[in-house]
Amino acid sequence: MNGPEIQISFAPALRLFVAADRRAGRTAVATDGSSSLGHVVESLGVPLTEAGRLLVDGRAVEPSHVPAAGETVEVEGVARPQSVPGAPLRFLLDVHLGTLARRLRLLGVDAAYESQDIGDPALAARSAEERRVMLSRDRGLLRRRELWAGAYVYSDQPDDQLRDVLGRFAPRLAPWTRCTACNGPLTEADKDTVRERLEQGTENTYDVFAQCTECERVYWRGAHHARLETIVSDALREFGGTAARETVL
Ligand SMILES: [Zn+2]
Repeated sequence: MNGPEIQISFAPALRLFVAADRRAGRTAVATDGSSSLGHVVESLGVPLTEAGRLLVDGRAVEPSHVPAAGETVEVEGVARPQSVPGAPLRFLLDVHLGTLARRLRLLGVDAAYESQDIGDPALAARSAEERRVMLSRDRGLLRRRELWAGAYVYSDQPDDQLRDVLGRFAPRLAPWTRCTACNGPLTEADKDTVRERLEQGTENTYDVFAQCTECERVYWRGAHHARLETIVSDALREFGGTAARETVL
């Protein structure tokens, strides 16, 4: 591109996306005179899902703004917590984020997950159809126009991923209300109803049961919960401002 030259800088949180020589501060970019600022930002490596306000000479503009020569552009990171208007907050996770999906479900957050790689077009279509925020570490997927909304997951460690998503979107937490296996809602179940699904030791030892309304998996409060209890209590302590106490377990 050898059209109008602008100066551009990125918020610290976005610098991992851009080339090393653009991380220190403001640098020059030659645009083509017709592409939008959103396109320019993406072409420099930053998914638009991660860009907050775009400031041109200190004034916020839309991504459709076409840069003119001499403009100074600042690209901010997304505001946290980030609101996603237009639908109840729910997520769709790609094939690499299975642990994160199960942890979100454990906290009662609606987290659909594709355990098979169905491909970017199908994921993006499902995000649009079900109005789910696409969570991924794949920048190419996050650039797809069909997405309802999307967010880059910054860490490859499940503990950090969970804190990232909870801090960014502040979903309402309702631990132990959702099936970690399939994302279906849990409902209370009495022992007689689920008896045939229990092993003898379980039947004798435990008596608080819940069952998934979709896959019929049975849950009970037991010793195996210790590790999961820690995940829940840590999340509630840090992000549980609006946690609902409607647990069925
Ligand atoms: Zn289920």
